[in-house]
Amino acid sequence: MSIFERSSQFLSKVRISGGGRCNVTHALFEPREFTSRYPRGERELISPFHRFSASDTVAWFETRGVKLKTEEDGRMFPVSDSSQTIIDCLIDEAKMAGVRLVTRKGVETARVRVEGGFDLRLSDGRSTTCDRLLLATGGCRSVGGVELAQSLGHTVEPPVPSLFSLHIPAKWLRALPGISVSDAELSVGKLRERGALLVTHNGISGPVVLRLSAWGARVLHEMNYQFTLRVNWIPEMREADLRNEFQTRRQTQPNRRIVNSPFGNLPARLWEKLISNAGISPKTIWTSLTRAGANELVRQLRATELEVDGKSLNKDEFVTCGGVRLREINFKTMESRITPGLYFAGELLDIDGLTGGFNFQAAWTTGWIAGNAMAKSI
Ligand SMILES: Cc1cc2nc3c(=O)[nH]c(=O)nc-3n(C[C@H](O)[C@H](O)[C@H](O)COP(=O)(O)OP(=O)(O)OC[C@H]3O[C@@H](n4cnc5c(N)ncnc54)[C@H](O)[C@@H]3O)c2cc1C
Repeated sequence: MSIFERSSQFLSKVRISGGGRCNVTHALFEPREFTSRYPRGERELISPFHRFSASDTVAWFETRGVKLKTEEDGRMFPVSDSSQTIIDCLIDEAKMAGVRLVTRKGVETARVRVEGGFDLRLSDGRSTTCDRLLLATGGCRSVGGVELAQSLGHTVEPPVPSLFSLHIPAKWLRALPGISVSDAELSVGKLRERGALLVTHNGISGPVVLRLSAWGARVLHEMNYQFTLRVNWIPEMREADLRNEFQTRRQTQPNRRIVNSPFGNLPARLWEKLISNAGISPKTIWTSLTRAGANELVRQLRATELEVDGKSLNKDEFVTCGGVRLREINFKTMESRITPGLYFAGELLDIDGLTGGFNFQAAWTTGWIAGNAMAKSI
């Protein structure tokens, strides 16, 4: 068995993943719950995760001497905190299994042979043949793998980015870089996500933004990343709770400046800006808050409207939404339903997950199933 890698080294994405530490998987051990982290692939991955789940990944690496640890947010990394440990483990295992590892040789074309199997043309001009072929060429923004899949009869859902942060030109927001809000709710049309938000030098990022960008990858692409985003900075309080709290403060701290008494866990500087956006003077005290001021403050807290005018790739992890159409694959074996003997694994499929180890887990699981099925079909 041979693996052809067109670049000079194997597993280069593993190397840079998780900031060089490789977020191998996520400590969620119930397959159905695990699949809920996949905007594309949720249904198809249920059965594969029953066969090779996050706990199997942990056991697989541990049996080979690589222990994983779990961080507070559930992300799992090698205890060495180095992606090199994962690379070494995978390469050693492949060598022990007798796999021929060939770098700097890409597969340029693949053709089904009349007598069965495939003819491959390689980037050095040579040709070779194989009985079974696994395509695991990664995200489909690089055309090579897509063309191979298409030439072998497959349909590819068009690629668009997933997992990105949002550009927001509003000056008042850009004046707050580094500020984080532990629980905010973002909505655009029918999309709605809740979680921690981080203000960056050119907009917003953080888990809630990445989730919105993953679930909304296609819709936001269709809008050319230009839309109005609504932010509820304090979703744990309903409108009635906010108004009751205003009333309480009018009574308990009538002469205190509103600007000096933020709500909930809102950072003081953000609160100050929201007060100012609501047209309330920094000198206003609670007892002087007018009905119109209170209404506007509620609106600012629960539905700040922000114009988004672009996006940037999240540096820590990004993936492609799109890829080989899932109904063309048999998920029991990862074999093509169109071309017998052809298998798929990883990001080339129309599967992508949220950040946190879900994308690697999809690659480990689909790779494990494909490898086993290919070995059995010998
Ligand atoms: C910066 C960054 C950090 C990330 N961090 C994490 C993380 O911590 N946790 C996580 O779960 N996910 C992470 N991801 C996502 C994860 O890396 C991918 O989902 C995963 O690598 C997909 O695996 P793959 O084998 O399908 O593709 P890849 O890892 O992209 O591997 C495909 C390989 O195929 C080679 N290739 C392509 N075409 C050909 C051809 N025609 N012939 C021969 N070789 C070819 C490519 O050179 C490449 O080496 C990260 C992504 C990025 C960009």
